[in-house]
Parts: sequence; structure tokens; C-alpha cells
Amino acid sequence: MNDAKTCQHTTELLSGYLDGELTQQQSQLVTAHIQQCQACGSSYRELQQLQSTVQQAHYPGMEEQAIQKLLSDPASTTLQTISWLAIVTSLTIAVVFVVYQFLLDSIMPWYEKLFVSLFWGGGIGLFLCVLRQRLIARKTDKYRKVNL
Ligand SMILES: [Zn+2]
Repeated sequence: MNDAKTCQHTTELLSGYLDGELTQQQSQLVTAHIQQCQACGSSYRELQQLQSTVQQAHYPGMEEQAIQKLLSDPASTTLQTISWLAIVTSLTIAVVFVVYQFLLDSIMPWYEKLFVSLFWGGGIGLFLCVLRQRLIARKTDKYRKVNL
């Protein structure tokens, strides 16, 4: 069955053949044909060469992907989350403790208490703001990754 129809059929399958996407039967058909048909054999080799050139051009991108994968692997993401939780928890405990001590302090006059409260309240507010922005930025990064 070495006619024009077989050649056309083989040509259509070549790309899938190179990508390993064909069924075993189709793949065997292509293998047999490109061995006996010179025209299809040479277009197979051309396509193969073209594909390896394209793959080489894509290599840096693939390496970048591997780095991204390494950075976002579950172990380091979990560790990062735990570290963040630890920092936030320790800060919360410290703040509660300091505020508790501060409110119990009866020597300090009320206006001084008010001043210190406002100062620290503002500082903590700013910190929470930055923390929130960081968390939103992390979420956006994840979305960007999915889009790629
Ligand atoms: Zn052929």
C-alpha cells in the first residue's frame, strides 16, 4: 500500500509521530512507511530536525520553569507559610503583652497613655497594611503563573 494516499496519511501523522501522540497502530504504520518511502522518510527527518531546533530555542524557558517549580514546591511553600504564621503569632503575643502591661501601669498620666497608644496603633496599622499587600501580591503571582 505504497500510494499517494498512504503518503498523504503519513504526512498528516508525522507531527503526532514525533510528539509520541499516536496510537501504537498508527505509529507502526508511520514507522513502516518512512522506512520504505524515500519522500516521506526525508520529510520525517526534516521535521525531526526542525523540532529539535525549536526545542533548543525553548530550552532557557524550560529551565526557568524548573526554577519556578523548585520555588513553588509544596515543602518550601508550607515552610514559608509556617514561618509567616510564627512571626505573626509572636508579634501578636508581644503586642497583647505590652498593651496589657501598659494599661496596668498607673504611674503614667492619661495623656501620655493616649499618645503612646496612638503612636503604636498607627505603627501596627501600617504593619498590617504592608502584610496585607504582601499577601495580595503573592496571590497575584500565583495567578500570573497559571496564565503562563
Ligand atoms: Zn510516502
